Amino acid sequence: MPGEGIPQWLEDLEKIPLDSRLRRKASLKRFNTWRIGGAAECVIDVKNLKDLRLLLPFIHKNQIPWFVIGKGSNLLVPDKTWPGIILHLSGDFKCWEPLEEKFNSGGKKVSAGAALADVTFAQKCVPHGWGGMEFLIGIPGTIGGAIAMNAGAHGAETADFIDEIEWMDMEGNLHCTAKDEIEFRYRYSELNGNYGRIITRAVLSLNESDPKTIQKNILKYQKFRKEKQPYNQPSCGSVFKNPTGDHAARLIENSGLKGKIKGGAQISTKQANFIVNLGNASSDDIMSLINTARETVFKNYSIDLMPEVQILQSSIYS
Ligand SMILES: Cc1cc2nc3c(=O)[nH]c(=O)nc-3n(C[C@H](O)[C@H](O)[C@H](O)COP(=O)(O)OP(=O)(O)OC[C@H]3O[C@@H](n4cnc5c(N)ncnc54)[C@H](O)[C@@H]3O)c2cc1C
Repeated sequence: MPGEGIPQWLEDLEKIPLDSRLRRKASLKRFNTWRIGGAAECVIDVKNLKDLRLLLPFIHKNQIPWFVIGKGSNLLVPDKTWPGIILHLSGDFKCWEPLEEKFNSGGKKVSAGAALADVTFAQKCVPHGWGGMEFLIGIPGTIGGAIAMNAGAHGAETADFIDEIEWMDMEGNLHCTAKDEIEFRYRYSELNGNYGRIITRAVLSLNESDPKTIQKNILKYQKFRKEKQPYNQPSCGSVFKNPTGDHAARLIENSGLKGKIKGGAQISTKQANFIVNLGNASSDDIMSLINTARETVFKNYSIDLMPEVQILQSSIYS
């Protein structure tokens, strides 16, 4: 008999011999950059491929709600307890390794684990003079999240630098797919946990540059963020994608919504496409501002703003 209130799948999960840390009823506040939301039934810091290969078929077979997160820097977490498994890649998935054999072919290629922080990746490239991905310095996510969201800034996006991606399907099969075989669009990749595909590692191809130029770009991008964005308040970055030929921030600002407050959340006074947590925002406060911005912009401009932010829900693969 399962213990009181403990789902059967959780009892079965605890019997799987994992190297990874498993946490019950873990608060998700520290797993997202808005610093909001309730707990998850279970969070697993997945340490290696072996464990991922055990976990995904188990989740799939038992039809357990699940979600893979990076740093939760583009994620809205609900206020109430989330009833499934959060996969949080860690351990081996933070690797960073220059691929020397590929260097001889002329390119500067680096293998990066999905859990490696974007900022760490950008910083590691500086002394080597490997350029192009300096834009990652201002994106507080992981390499896996950057690929899943095709994150970009300052005229470049992650897909521009991808050579190949290693990922796992829900049956636990590991794939290595060349970039050309994967569909990428503006803030979209078909490799995303939402579609039952977990990115584990990527080979990124960088440009030969010099450390001084790269460092200069990094400082320029950091200065831009400090001047234009509410960098010292919890947020998820841009809430909406920019519609073709326009800017979501301009549309929201011109709709008179800059500074609008709902509960503990506010449409940033600095950048209208950011919603910030003033200290005690709930997920509902943020969702309410998202709906207000969307409805008001539609009323004024007949443009339906598409959220860039992902909502924590069950991944749809079944
Ligand atoms: C201050 C601030 C500034 C930002 N600036 C930018 C910017 O300039 N440009 C930009 O594009 N974004 C920006 N963002 C948004 C965000 O940082 C990016 O979308 C980032 O790539 C998300 O990475 P993450 O690891 O935090 O992913 P999460 O937020 O944890 O997840 C986002 C999505 O990716 C999926 N995912 C994560 N890891 C994996 C994986 N290993 N395999 C499969 N799917 C996965 C999740 O399931 C989810 O659907 C900003 C955010 C903040 C807070």
